[in-house]
Amino acid sequence: MRILIYGGSFNPPHLGHIRSVQTAVKALAPDKTLLIPAAIPPHKRLAQGSPEPEHRLAMTALAAEAIPGCEASDMELRREGPSYTSDTLRQLHELYPDAELVFLMGTDMLLSIETWHEPETIMGLASLAVFAREAGREGEISAQAAHLRERYGAAVYVLEGTPVTVSSTEIRELLPQRQGREYLTDGVYAYIIRHRLYGARPDLDWLREKAYAYLKPTRVEHVRGTEAMARRLAVRWGVEETDAAEAAILHDVTKKMAGPDQLRLAEKYGIIPDTWERENTELLHAVTGAAFAADIFGVSEPIENAIRWHTTGRPGMTALEQIVFLADAIEMGRKPYPALEAIRKAAFEDLDAAVELCARRTLDYVAARGLPIHPDTARTRDHYLKKLEDKGASPVQVDGDANE
Ligand code: ATP
Repeated sequence: MRILIYGGSFNPPHLGHIRSVQTAVKALAPDKTLLIPAAIPPHKRLAQGSPEPEHRLAMTALAAEAIPGCEASDMELRREGPSYTSDTLRQLHELYPDAELVFLMGTDMLLSIETWHEPETIMGLASLAVFAREAGREGEISAQAAHLRERYGAAVYVLEGTPVTVSSTEIRELLPQRQGREYLTDGVYAYIIRHRLYGARPDLDWLREKAYAYLKPTRVEHVRGTEAMARRLAVRWGVEETDAAEAAILHDVTKKMAGPDQLRLAEKYGIIPDTWERENTELLHAVTGAAFAADIFGVSEPIENAIRWHTTGRPGMTALEQIVFLADAIEMGRKPYPALEAIRKAAFEDLDAAVELCARRTLDYVAARGLPIHPDTARTRDHYLKKLEDKGASPVQVDGDANE
């Protein structure tokens, strides 16, 4: 029996790791492959602000899914103190006394192995397999392999293949810039986004793909239009454009759900709908959508709030909230309605005036049809009317106002 063992910080596990294990599995055909995240890596410190070990284990388990017969092991996480490879190999040797243990590593680790804790024990208990992290190191690797064979009687497999040249450090730097996804499996990436690890902000192509899957196909165009308008308004008003895009992409994410499902989702997230929402469940989608976006897509609080208030508005909205509220109402695919052009124009001239007009128009529209209206919309209108007065500006007049 042959057991392949791959240890590391896995902070996070990436396609470089996966390529290395896949190459080793192909070359060595192990019966079992273990990815073992270190609790306290002895060779290097975990970066500051690193996720809890449980998160690294969960990500490693997700990465392991990409390789048949591979599993993540928590044996080092359960052990106290530094995670010495020699201790891990002793433990595995006790569990599997007849197995050949093969310890897989990258170039950096092979070159430094003599500085590890108990290198003789490591090379006595396990064969080594090395897969280069980058091209051009073949000479160094074969010289070191020869040296280890001679000095320690080590068995060293030198694996050949094309590496994915990346490190966890680089990925941690890319993630907050909405980059780095191409170096991770989809499962690991979704996990990082969901749990807000590494200050990651979602790649917007990925987010669109995931978010659109929750929409009715007919709604996708509206969401695209809302994103486009939210971006334009963000540029106009000096708001981070990708934040506006992120909120817009997710603003209707639970809209498809019928009333009972909305209520169930609200309950799941501990949201207590007010009487009005209980009776008009379709407006709950803003509330459940915000909670869902935070849970599944780890959105930040400002983005969660922009989703939360996109339908009714609220007094004292942030610029981002105003932008998403307006973009939803005036995106270029909207069917014409009486004040549409006036709101569009106002949105680029004075956000407060545009919000006031938009809320006022919604109130007029529902009143004319005898429909119920959430009191937050009236509060929004009143707040922005007062704000306009306070700054000496007039509300936007549109044709027909005098008669209403
Ligand atoms: P960090 O950047 O946080 O130091 P890392 O990317 O070096 O992390 P580790 O989890 O510390 O990754 O490494 C675990 C093992 O994976 C080590 O043996 C390392 O040499 C190997 N390894 C890391 N990256 C690659 C890669 N791109 N290709 C092949 N092996 C790799």
